[in-house]
Amino acid sequence: MRRFKSARRLLMRLFFLWASRQRWLGEQMTRRSFARRAVLRFMPGADVDSALAAAQTLRPRRMSTVLTQLGENITQLSEGKAVADHYLSVLSRISPTGLDAHVSVKLTQLGLDVSREETLAFVLGLAKRAADGGNFLWIDMEDSSYVDATLDLYRKVRQEYANVGVCIQAYLRRTARDLESLIPIGPSIRLVKGAYSETSAVAFPDKRDVDEEYFKLARTLLQSVAGKNGSRVGFGTHDMKLGSRIQQLAEELKVSRDAYEVQMLYGIGRADQDRLANEGYRVRVLISYGAYWFPWYMRRLAERPANVWFVIKSMFG
Ligand SMILES: Cc1cc2nc3c(=O)[nH]c(=O)nc-3n(C[C@H](O)[C@H](O)[C@H](O)COP(=O)(O)OP(=O)(O)OC[C@H]3O[C@@H](n4cnc5c(N)ncnc54)[C@H](O)[C@@H]3O)c2cc1C
Repeated sequence: MRRFKSARRLLMRLFFLWASRQRWLGEQMTRRSFARRAVLRFMPGADVDSALAAAQTLRPRRMSTVLTQLGENITQLSEGKAVADHYLSVLSRISPTGLDAHVSVKLTQLGLDVSREETLAFVLGLAKRAADGGNFLWIDMEDSSYVDATLDLYRKVRQEYANVGVCIQAYLRRTARDLESLIPIGPSIRLVKGAYSETSAVAFPDKRDVDEEYFKLARTLLQSVAGKNGSRVGFGTHDMKLGSRIQQLAEELKVSRDAYEVQMLYGIGRADQDRLANEGYRVRVLISYGAYWFPWYMRRLAERPANVWFVIKSMFG
C-alpha cells in the first residue's frame, strides 16, 4: 500500500512538472477564474500592491519577507528590461515603508536565454538600487541547465556588491562542490531542496537522499557561511523535521538564531511560521505575485499533490 501511494505521488509529481512546461495549458488555465481563485491560496494577489500589503500584515507577526514577480524564460530583451524596471521601482517603493522586504529574481525572467551580458547588467543595476536602499537581492535557481550561468553571474555580481545572495538546490549532485567553490567569495545562500524535473544523472531521485544532502549542506553553511562577514543564510523549507534537526545542529555548533533565517512560501505552513517567529527564529516569507503564475503554481502542486483539492474546491466556488 505504501509503495502504491509513493508511486502515485511520484506520477502526480511528474505530471505536474510536465504540465508546468506546457505553454498552451498555461494560456488556457490563466484565463479560468476557478484556477485564479485556487492560486490565491499561495499568493495574495496579482500585483505588487497586494504583495506589499501582505508584507505589512506579516510585520506584526515578526516576519520579514522577500518579494518576487512570477515569470520566467522571456524571449525578448525588451521584456527583460521591463522586468528589471519593475524591480527597480519595487526596491524604491520598499525603502520608505521601512519593511524588511528583500527582492528575489529569476535570471531567465531578466533575459538569461537571450543575452548573458544584458542580464548581468540588469542584475548589477538591481544590486546597486538594493544597496542604495539598504536592501538585499536574491537570485533564484532554475533548472539544472542554468546552474553554471547563474553561479557565474552571481560571482561577478558578488565581486561588486555584498548585498546579493543566490539559491542552491540540495537535490543536485553537484551542489556540495558548488557550495565549496562559493565559500571563498563570502556568499549569501538560500538552500532549498529543488523544484524542477531533473534526471537521476544530475539529481538524487530519492527524497531521503535529498533530505540527507540538505542536512549536510546545512552543516557546511552553518560552519562556514552563517554569521561570517555579513553573509546571509536562508534555509528555504517547510520540512519541519529537517528544520528542527538543523536548528539543533546550529545550537550544537553555537551558531546563534540571528545568524540564519528560515524562509518559507506565503500560504504554506502558516502555523509553523508563527511558532518559529515566536520561538525567536528569523522567519522570512517569500511572497509571489504576477499574472504569469502557471508554471510556478504547477511546481507547488507537484510538491504536494493534495493541493489539487484547492483547485477542485475552487471549481465549485
Ligand atoms: C523561500 C523559498 C524559496 C525557494 N526558491 C527556490 C528556487 O530558487 N529554486 C528552486 O528550485 N526551488 C525553490 N524553492 C522551492 C523548493 O525547492 C521546494 O520545492 C519547496 O520548498 C518544497 O520543499 P520543502 O523543502 O518544503 O520540503 P518537502 O519535503 O517537499 O515538504 C515538506 C512538507 O512541507 C509541506 N509542503 C511543501 N510544499 C508544499 C506545498 N507546495 N503546499 C503545501 N504544503 C507543502 C508539506 O507538508 C510537506 O510534507 C523555494 C522554496 C522556498 C521556501
